[in-house]
This record gives sequence, structure tokens and C-alpha cells, in this order.
Amino acid sequence: VAASAAAAVSGPGRTADGLPVKLLANIGGAADVPAALAAGAEGVGLFRTEFLYLDSDRPPAFEAQVQAYREVFEAFPEGARVVVRTLDAGADKPLPFVPLGEEPNPALGVRGLRAFRAFDGRNEPVLRTQLLAIREAAGTVAAEVWVMAPMVDEAPEAEWFCRLAAACDLDVAGGRVGVMVETPSSALTAGAILAGPSGFASIGTNDLTQYTMAADRMLGALGPLQDPWHPAVLKLIGAAGAAGEAAGKPVGVCGEAAADPLLACVLVGLGVRSLSMAPSALGEVRAALAGRTLDACVAMAARASGAATAREARRAAAGG
Ligand code: PEP
Ligand code: MG
Repeated sequence: VAASAAAAVSGPGRTADGLPVKLLANIGGAADVPAALAAGAEGVGLFRTEFLYLDSDRPPAFEAQVQAYREVFEAFPEGARVVVRTLDAGADKPLPFVPLGEEPNPALGVRGLRAFRAFDGRNEPVLRTQLLAIREAAGTVAAEVWVMAPMVDEAPEAEWFCRLAAACDLDVAGGRVGVMVETPSSALTAGAILAGPSGFASIGTNDLTQYTMAADRMLGALGPLQDPWHPAVLKLIGAAGAAGEAAGKPVGVCGEAAADPLLACVLVGLGVRSLSMAPSALGEVRAALAGRTLDACVAMAARASGAATAREARRAAAGG
């Protein structure tokens, strides 16, 4: 889509036949908010909170967290959704105050939500404090604050997270507590996860691609395998999308895949109903959706999912 066409389409995301698809921003803190608002983001689909604390060697204090979260929440108007992800520590984002130990294979190690459940819950107080700080900051703002956990594999983990969030007075019953789907296991069991207390799912296509292709996303040599167009990845996204539709719970995408205008249409065809991306990508994705009906997106998705490789999937989606 040409830049001029992208500029011509504004307002909330929707397909040509009027299906709303929320267009949200990925941010790492308040400094990223002006660009998100300027690009017309309807809210935030991924607030990566660990970016605030990568340099800290001690857990962030409750009050400091409340302030940092409130600064982001306050920038969004009444009803705008702001999805906060709880701390996502791992090999690529080490948090000194969430010790993970030595691991031979960190991409498959104790990371994301696992870091707070492993080691007999040694790190759990850090997560509890974060949830309480999010609750405190959310209490005084107009935006709708949602919370999700990273690196969830199966329903019992999602239930554990929802129990902890409920104990911290977050709105589990109102559907505002959910999980990320970024492993093949959680994509394939999204039905079981969404049958439980989780109110929504957000697909992290960066990790989902890494784990589907068994290709470490940190290794440049394997870059060509880190392609979310791969039909295996698309089928997993389709499984999660279908589970969301069956459960009547929203499923979104917050990985890099959402920023590719053509792939964004395929994602909508797979049942995804919100797309979160770098603000700079919002205009072109908005224009691409506005130019296609839901039926056209579904047809594109079917063609792409049936391909043999990422390259063929891209070509199949674009053609026909
Ligand atoms: C993802 O894995 O797609 C994601 C959005 O999370 P991160 O890139 O922060 O791992
Ligand atoms: Mg991830």
C-alpha cells in the first residue's frame, strides 16, 4: 500500500465490510506513547514492562512502579484498552533481580511466567508486587487496563496467574486478565486455556515462530527460519483464533507479524481481532484492512495456511 493511500485512511481499524479490528501499539514505557497517539493507536496491545527495569539490580519499588504505569495509562482516553504484560525475563531480557540460574538452553528455560512459579515460588513476590502496582495505577485512570502473562504453556499456568491476579484485586471476572500464546502448546490448547478464567489471549508471534521452527530468535544465522509467514505458524495462529471465537473471548496478535500489512489481513482471516505493533506500522496496516472484506481475509488465510513454505504462503496470500 502506498504511503499516500495509508495516510488517506484514518480512524479505528476495520475491514472494508466494517468488521472492527483494534489497532494498538507496542510500547516499552511512557516515552513511546506520543508516537503511538500520533499514529492513531486505539490503545496499547503490549506494554513490555521489563524494559523499565533491565538495568536494575534490585526489584523495582511499588511506588515507582505505580508512577511508571500511571504515566502510561493516563495518556489514553476513556475506554481505550491498555494491555500490560507482566515482567518477561529470559535469556534475551535478563532481569538481575529475577535470578534464573545457569541454563544450557535459555530459550527453552525458566523464563516469562515460569520464572515466578519455578524454584518453589522464590520470585513470586516480585510478580505479586507488580500486579498490585498495576492495580493501584489502574484505579484512578479512564483507560481500560488489561493484564497478561508471557510464556504460558497450558491451562493450569493460566489459572495460577489468574488466581494471583484476582488476589491482587485485578478484574479477572470482567475479562481483563489473560495470557500470551507464544508456544505451540498454548496455541494448540487455547480452547482449554480460554475455557478457564483467562479473559483473552494475545499471540506473540516472535516467540511462537521461534518455538514452532525450533530456531533460536537470537541467532542471526537462523534468521530465515524466523518467518511468521510459515504455514506451520499460521496453522497454530488459526487454532488459537478458532478457540477464541468458540469461547467468545478476544484473541489478538502483538508480535512483529501484526506490522506486515498483508500478513495482518491473513491474521484477521485466522480469527484475530486486534493487532498490536510498532506505531510506525499502524497507517499501512489500517489501509490494508480497509481495502479487504473479512471474506477476502479468510480466503487469503486459507491459501497461505495451505502452502508448504513461508515464501509460498506469502505469494499465495498476495495472489488469487
Ligand atoms: C512475541 O514473542 O511475539 C512478543 C510479542 O514478545 P517479545 O517479543 O517481547 O518476546
Ligand atoms: Mg515473547
